[in-house]
Parts: sequence; structure tokens; C-alpha cells
Amino acid sequence: MDLFEYQARDLFAKHGVPVLDGDVIETAADAAAIAERFGGRAVVKAQVKVGGRGKAGGVKLASDPQDVVAKAEAILGMDIKGHTVHKVMLAQTADIQEEYYVSFLLDRTNRTFLAMASVEGGVEIEVVAEENPDALAKIPVDANEGVTAEKAAEIVAAAKFPAEIADQVADVLQKLWVVFVKEDALLVEVNPLIKSGDGKIIALDGKVSLDENAEFRQPDHEALEDKAAANPLEAAAKAKGLNYVKLDGQVGIIGNGAGLVMSTLDVVAYAGENHGGVKPANFLDIGGGASAEVMANGLEIILGDTDVKSVFVNVFGGITACDAVANGIVQALALLEGKGEAVTKPLVVRLDGNNAELGRQILTDANHPLVEQVDTMDGAADRAAELANK
Ligand code: GDP
Ligand code: MN
Repeated sequence: MDLFEYQARDLFAKHGVPVLDGDVIETAADAAAIAERFGGRAVVKAQVKVGGRGKAGGVKLASDPQDVVAKAEAILGMDIKGHTVHKVMLAQTADIQEEYYVSFLLDRTNRTFLAMASVEGGVEIEVVAEENPDALAKIPVDANEGVTAEKAAEIVAAAKFPAEIADQVADVLQKLWVVFVKEDALLVEVNPLIKSGDGKIIALDGKVSLDENAEFRQPDHEALEDKAAANPLEAAAKAKGLNYVKLDGQVGIIGNGAGLVMSTLDVVAYAGENHGGVKPANFLDIGGGASAEVMANGLEIILGDTDVKSVFVNVFGGITACDAVANGIVQALALLEGKGEAVTKPLVVRLDGNNAELGRQILTDANHPLVEQVDTMDGAADRAAELANK
């Protein structure tokens, strides 16, 4: 989960990284009072989850409270690379002498963490990496050792930070590493990290991406979610505890086991090539213990997707046998009909594995007009794609 700049800034402040005073607003009228607090002057910064706001006109210096209100008004509602600005951050202005770059990230390729640092910050780091790769230091960070004083000094030296600020930068690096670890981040980036006129090192812009897999031990992170931007189907699925990802196709998918569901997506996309190019509409793994309730919840989400034209239920019976899943499907359909959410889209069911025969018999006996059974995965995918293309 990517955070807004103001949220990143809050996490920096929480862990002692030096930042300037700031406040976030959604209405320009609120800007004047905050500007007064900063002595009249303020930087007005669009809060959108995309880089290069400055270049796009989303970062403006304002010299008095009236100007702050005017700039906030101009930036609120602006479109920056397809992102509408709903919030602006007002921050104390900085007297910038130098702009640097520092970050920590998970380096999946090399199975380690990576520190990156450059004295050529303020500009897009991708540009520095391309045009002047020697100016971007990359130092691996061992997960077990972390950023010790020695490691911080190594990063500072590799990036050639000037001697008079070396200790300050090293201290900031250690604190940013604490943010990275304590907040379960996948990325912590500061661009620019500045040297102010009075020689202080300050994080002026922050980008943080949190690891959603760590949500269970980060109860505070839920409040950082941008609920307004979330896909409503994904939000509803999350509330029901389902592993659901919305995709842009027409064939709804339900399966048990992440690996089976992923291969189902491939098989459906392949089958779709013969049926007008239909594609999977979602990923949904209902897991091992597919009770009627979980099946009903899953079907409810998928049938609520207006893009969905047919549904493919692909189950390989294991610990939860096919007869239990079949009963789950029958009960789920009854549950939904009982709730007035009549099922109107065709369902193709493929049951295989433990007690497959029994499961198929249960569905045959139930004789639901919209449920069809196909015994093979390829055959079922083809039929579901065909129905979605009607
Ligand atoms: P980004 O374009 O989305 O990365 O937004 P930043 O927050 O990094 O701001 C872009 C640039 O605006 C920075 O690199 C600075 O040069 C400038 N800037 C931001 N805040 C201030 C400030 O308080 N004072 C001055 N003089 N410049 C600022
Ligand atoms: Mn920046």
C-alpha cells in the first residue's frame, strides 16, 4: 500500500526523522489559519500517489496567507497524471541549499534490502540512475544486521556526502531504517533530503509503501488506507475476509487454493481466445475449507460485478471433499435467492479430486437451471468463456 506524502511525513516524525511542520486540508478556506501558524508563508503540495508533482504544477510556494489560500484553491481539484487532487499539504517553507536522495527498499532480485543514496537529489532518481549511474550509490543491507552506525557511514561515504553533514545524514539513515523495519515498509524514500541554509538535514518529501502482508501486526495501518480510492468490490471482499482481486474480464472465477486459481486464470484467458477474447474477471481463492457461507460470500461478490457474464467454479477436492463443496454451492445459491439476490448468470462447475463423483451427483440432483457441470478444467474453462461471450 502506497501512502500519501503527508502520511509518510507523519511516520517519519513518529520515528524522529527531521521534517518540517505541516498540515493536510481538503478545503482551501482552511489554509489561511495554517499559513498564519507558519508565519504566513507555506509550500502548498498536492497529495496524489504519483511522482513528479512539482513539475506538473502540484507544488507551489506561497508568500502570504491570501496567496496560500489561492494556491490551495488552484491545486485542489487539479489532475496530475490521471490523479485528482482531493487533499493538499501545507508545509513550512524550507531554505534549500542542497537536495539529496536516500531510500531503502526490498531488493527481490538479490534477496536482500537495498540502500540507495545520491547527492544529486531533487530530480527524478530514475533519470540520475540512467544518465549518471555513478552518482547513485547502491549498498545492500543485511536483514539481520540492519543499518548500524557503520552501515550508515558506509552509505554516506559511497554516495560522497560532504564531511560536514556526514554525521547528520548517517543519523537520518538510521532513523529511516527504523521506519522501514518498525512500519513493515517495502519502500522508504526521501527526495529531496535537503541541507537547509543553517546546515540542517531535513526530509522534505517522502514516499512510503507498506507491506500489506504485515497488516496483522500493524493495527494502526488500517487508518492509512485510502478508502475512497479502493475498488468497491475489493473493499466488500476484504470486509468478508476473501482473497479477491478484481480484474478486467468477463468470466468470474472461484477456486480453492491460490495455485489452482492462478492456473484457472491462465486456462480461461487461453479459452477466451476462441470466444471473442473474453478474460477472467477476478481472482478469488476461497481456500481449503469452503463452507456454504464462504461460497455464498464469494458468489455474492462475483455476481455483484456488472462486468461478469458467466462464472467458473473450479474446485479440486482435498481435505474439504467435493461433496461438501457441492453442498456449499447448493446452499449458497439458496442463501442468495433467500436474500433476494437471485442468481441470473450461468455457473460452470468443475469438481475433481476427493469425492468428486458424490459432489457431481449432489449438483445433478439439485438441478439448478443455471448450473452446468463439466468434468475437465479445460472443458469447463471453454464452456464458461463461451457463455461469457453470448
Ligand atoms: P515531487 O515533485 O512530487 O517529488 O515533490 P517534492 O515535494 O519533492 O517537491 C519538488 C521540489 O519543490 C523539490 O525538489 C524542491 O526543489 C521544491 N520545494 C519543495 N518544498 C520546498 C520549500 O519549502 N522551499 C523551496 N524553496 N522549495 C521547495
Ligand atoms: Mn520529491
